[in-house]
Amino acid sequence: MKPTPNRLATSPAKAGFSATPTFDPFWAGTRHGELRLQHCQACGSHMLYPRLRCPDCGSVDLDWKRASGKARLHSYVSPPVPASERAGDPPYVIAVVELDEGVRMMSKLVGLPPDSTALPADMRLEVVFEPRGDEMLPAFKRAGS
Ligand SMILES: [Zn+2]
Repeated sequence: MKPTPNRLATSPAKAGFSATPTFDPFWAGTRHGELRLQHCQACGSHMLYPRLRCPDCGSVDLDWKRASGKARLHSYVSPPVPASERAGDPPYVIAVVELDEGVRMMSKLVGLPPDSTALPADMRLEVVFEPRGDEMLPAFKRAGS
């Protein structure tokens, strides 16, 4: 396999939204209403957080693809106090969702109460985007709602 140049973003990440510059394509996607995942061109795996090598096959032949935005609820928590200044006022639900591409990510649920009867395991979800400052943050709502 011939080596390919690292095509990940090299510009500085915006303070407060990304710990590494390699998240830039992700945030560029959210600004366009797209959930983007890093993708391995060698084996087809998707990944999040961004990496320099595929964790499944070791390839550096990585690009970014638009995800379906469809997911299922894996787990959740409803913190009694704000988790951060950006989190907003409780009650809200922070969830780990599993995207249909096989990637798990932490996000916020919207339009759903922090009640176990409203949040069954494997509930189908779809991405929405919420403005937060200059950025659009991905969140998830019940699919079809
Ligand atoms: Zn791979």
